[in-house]
Amino acid sequence: MKTLKSYVCGKWHAAGSGFVPLHDPATEEEIARVSSAGVDFGAALDHARRRGAPALAALTFAERGQILKAMSKALRDHRDVLIELSRVNNGATAGDGAFDVDGASGTLAFYAAYARRLGERRSLVEGEGVPLARTDGFWGQHLLVSRQGVAVHVNAFNFPAWGLAEKAACSLLAGVPAITKPATATAMVTERAVEILVAEGVLPEGALQLVCGSTGDLLDRLGPQDVLAFTGSADTALRLRQGANLLAANVRVNVEADSLNAAVLAPDVAEGSPAFELFVKDVVREMTQKAGQKCTAVRRILVPVERVGVVTEALAARLGAVVTGNPADESVTMGPLATAHQLADAERGVAELAQGARIVHGTGRRADGAGSPPGKGWFLAPTLLRADDARGAGAVHRREVFGPVATLLPYHGGADEAAEVNALGGGTLVTSVYSDDDVWVSDFVAHGGAATGRLYVGSAGAAEAAPGSGLVLPQSLHGGPGRAGGGEELGGEVGLKLYMQRLALQGARDMVQRVAGVET
Ligand code: NAP
Repeated sequence: MKTLKSYVCGKWHAAGSGFVPLHDPATEEEIARVSSAGVDFGAALDHARRRGAPALAALTFAERGQILKAMSKALRDHRDVLIELSRVNNGATAGDGAFDVDGASGTLAFYAAYARRLGERRSLVEGEGVPLARTDGFWGQHLLVSRQGVAVHVNAFNFPAWGLAEKAACSLLAGVPAITKPATATAMVTERAVEILVAEGVLPEGALQLVCGSTGDLLDRLGPQDVLAFTGSADTALRLRQGANLLAANVRVNVEADSLNAAVLAPDVAEGSPAFELFVKDVVREMTQKAGQKCTAVRRILVPVERVGVVTEALAARLGAVVTGNPADESVTMGPLATAHQLADAERGVAELAQGARIVHGTGRRADGAGSPPGKGWFLAPTLLRADDARGAGAVHRREVFGPVATLLPYHGGADEAAEVNALGGGTLVTSVYSDDDVWVSDFVAHGGAATGRLYVGSAGAAEAAPGSGLVLPQSLHGGPGRAGGGEELGGEVGLKLYMQRLALQGARDMVQRVAGVET
């Protein structure tokens, strides 16, 4: 059986004890084991500080971009092996595995191209310079300079390739070395990806290290220039944020947590129209892609009360065509949940949702999967619920069920009412609205824009090109307020800021402008 290793201090480290088993979620067969026992976390941090940080600091943005380009190419060249590992360890279909792996190489490629545009600089100029006195004798300019620390990247189980790459792209481009830690249950893809990057020799020594298993005392060793970028559940985020050392050392922490994303059908959208078809297609994709194990999946579906019946039928018809089972079987279109724990949690979650809603499609219980032995595999077929009272739907606005599960909520058509119901979720990563009416959408933005990090507008004009509300694009912000963690990742320059320090440079105008590299 394979034993996953950590890559620290320029060497592959194999633990001798403390192993956690990994499984194929479609068959429950044990496939690997993981432990970080024996990793010297102090030495790993020291290695990043002494080797990785100076190597990156010596490079311009454009030169760091060359590293990202090479990383992207290396992952692309090995995409088939990574997609196959996604099947074995995550239960991902080929499409779901490609979504993760191509998302990783695509995000690295985007930041490589972005780095070319930033050019031969090492700091970013922010905004216009401003006079600080009556004459040009004293002038101010904001700059962003690399933090002189290490980034610890803690990732969730559902995107083992993309999670690694989207965080590494931003921190390496900002000039900050990273120690990446995948979720234990699905660490195989991340381990292999780092193995590929190390073997291809695309990274400066110390720029990227890997911890498979627990982080030990790593977080207790972080200092004021370091960064913790966390993706995972709100519960873990709450625990980590309270870490005494993180608070005492004022370590910068970014949290990407869970989210009760909503899709809202506006009253102007007629059945059969392009916006209606897009809405149905998007909701079904966002419920079932990666078996609903996406932080951006749709959990709540707001529909004008008079359309609830039509929408229920349209969604149920498409969900009924989904074949749940072992992705090794060619007929299968949706795989299992990643672990026994995730399945049990999703079953409990549906039971909680059902206290304020009723199941109208599926069962919310484990089922046998096509292509897997009876009784084996952590399968949950798509489950749709419906509440009669959107505001009183209780757990629907509190409980993330991390699986192919969503709840229909009726409303009376007002953008203000839809915004208010959406906000009951406490802050989303993405909210999608489907409307061809600019006034309705503007009203929604005015009443509800602050409750989400991203507003995806599906309309007739967008129907051909819209990629689905769950797709996180490196050009656009990823992160949302409140429950979603309050963090900000990606979004071009936005993603670099986590790893950079804002500096107000003050002095004589000509000197400030020369130092900042601003054209005079
Ligand atoms: P999780 O249980 O919170 O774990 C997330 C990560 O935290 C894992 O790497 C885990 O490692 C690590 N971790 C747990 N306790 C820790 C500790 N005391 N110290 C250091 N690290 C610790 O979440 P998950 O089950 O992997 O992922 C599912 C959740 O992530 C869902 O709620 C989903 O919405 C959210 N998510 C959010 C985003 C986003 O961008 N907002 C993206 C993807 C997923 P171990 O596995 O070793 O415990």
